[in-house]
Amino acid sequence: MPTTPAQDLKKLQDMAKVMKPGSTLSNVLKEACKMAALVKNSDYAQVPGGGNAVCKYDQATGASDGYKVRYQSGNIGNLVHELTHIAVNESYKRDFVNYASKNVPPPAIYNNTDNRTNEADRQGAWMDQAKNNGIVATLDTLKKEANKAKTSLTAQQLADVNNKLDYGRINPHIEFETVLNQILVWMYEWGYMPSGTEDKLTPAQQFCQKIDAAAKTRYDNRAKEYKVSTW
Ligand SMILES: [Zn+2]
Repeated sequence: MPTTPAQDLKKLQDMAKVMKPGSTLSNVLKEACKMAALVKNSDYAQVPGGGNAVCKYDQATGASDGYKVRYQSGNIGNLVHELTHIAVNESYKRDFVNYASKNVPPPAIYNNTDNRTNEADRQGAWMDQAKNNGIVATLDTLKKEANKAKTSLTAQQLADVNNKLDYGRINPHIEFETVLNQILVWMYEWGYMPSGTEDKLTPAQQFCQKIDAAAKTRYDNRAKEYKVSTW
């Protein structure tokens, strides 16, 4: 039975409630719930694969004015991925790019539903090669760490993690914080989140800690940029 957006959002909220306060996953899920409030109920659509988040802008100010989300029914990792795109846009305010940039983009062009039709060009202008290289280096390190955990992840889980990290490597400027948060949700769902009472962590739990640390760094960065970036 496919679940409705309302059911999936409820599951997300329930998950956020049971996380240890202050933990990375607690922060990430609470942030996702906040972003979900920027999407009207009618603006969720379910798709069989992939997904996206589209911003509607106030053309006069260039500020965001709501979002539409396409995601996969019942897939909370995917839903958090799409809501993280919104968190990234709300924090850096750079057309969904994962970092602040002083570059000057071409003026926004809008369609009649207030979406930017030249978003890809603007993203290209915001792009910073040095920052992209840093992101790819982090993703490469995480791939090595995932491989070290191949004895305790299943083959399918390892493949899913590597696919997602590779997905980030293709478009590091827009698919970094999204894939970190998605993998962090998976690691929790798969039961690899250390409880803090273990004597010794399994390789999968150790990998979970690496993903957690990378996701925390970016969460903290978004929180900082949210306050200083302007539309
Ligand atoms: Zn994405």
